[in-house]
Amino acid sequence: MEKLLELSAFKLWLLLMSVLTLRYFFVAGIPYLWLYVIGKDKYRGYKIQKKQPSVSQVVLEVKYSLITFCVYSSGIWLFLNWLKNGYTQNYTNIDEFGNVYFVFSVFIMIIMHDTYSYWIHRLMHHNAIFKYTHLLHHKFKNPSPWSAFAFHPFESVLTMGIIPIIIFTIPWHNWSLVIFITWMIFYDTFVHLGYNIKQLKLFKFQNTPLDHDVHHRNSKYNFGLYFTFWDRLMGTYKT
Ligand SMILES: [Zn+2]
Ligand SMILES: [Zn+2]
Repeated sequence: MEKLLELSAFKLWLLLMSVLTLRYFFVAGIPYLWLYVIGKDKYRGYKIQKKQPSVSQVVLEVKYSLITFCVYSSGIWLFLNWLKNGYTQNYTNIDEFGNVYFVFSVFIMIIMHDTYSYWIHRLMHHNAIFKYTHLLHHKFKNPSPWSAFAFHPFESVLTMGIIPIIIFTIPWHNWSLVIFITWMIFYDTFVHLGYNIKQLKLFKFQNTPLDHDVHHRNSKYNFGLYFTFWDRLMGTYKT
């Protein structure tokens, strides 16, 4: 990763922006094509809200997602500099902490992120900051895979806050972070599918597209990202 920093700041930013954008069109585009275009009639029974999101909504979702990736690219540039300067808890040899810790560290990142997401999400719903941060994401009352990263820039900055928390507090290998981020991208897109695919609900405490759809329609409930533990504990869970 450090080699990337040999590029000029602008070239690196442009490279990050291109990777994030391509990744977005791939991860959101495939389920969109599959569920909303090719299989629109076949999977109609799985659609949570019977109405399809309008073209203008999808265009707005893509627009705000691209703005989010501008913010994320700047953040990643900063994180890479911290990494290069040895400020983080990064380690390069898996044997240093072993394979068990390597796998465990990915789970820890997921649990940390779920907790961070729940509380930052609740914070953004506070009247004092809602309209300056999270209101934009709630404009998309009928979510689609394109809405997973459709945030106000201030929300984008807040959502990135999990990365410094992880890289400064727990020993992490480059690949464990890559696995965690890949999981995060797929799962965030999954909960915004707008389709209730029961076969993909594997355990009781899993957050699902149906749970997140409830949140987009009624913002008092279901603040969780991956799990429903915090919602159940805090009395904000609704099916
Ligand atoms: Zn959402
Ligand atoms: Zn919300």
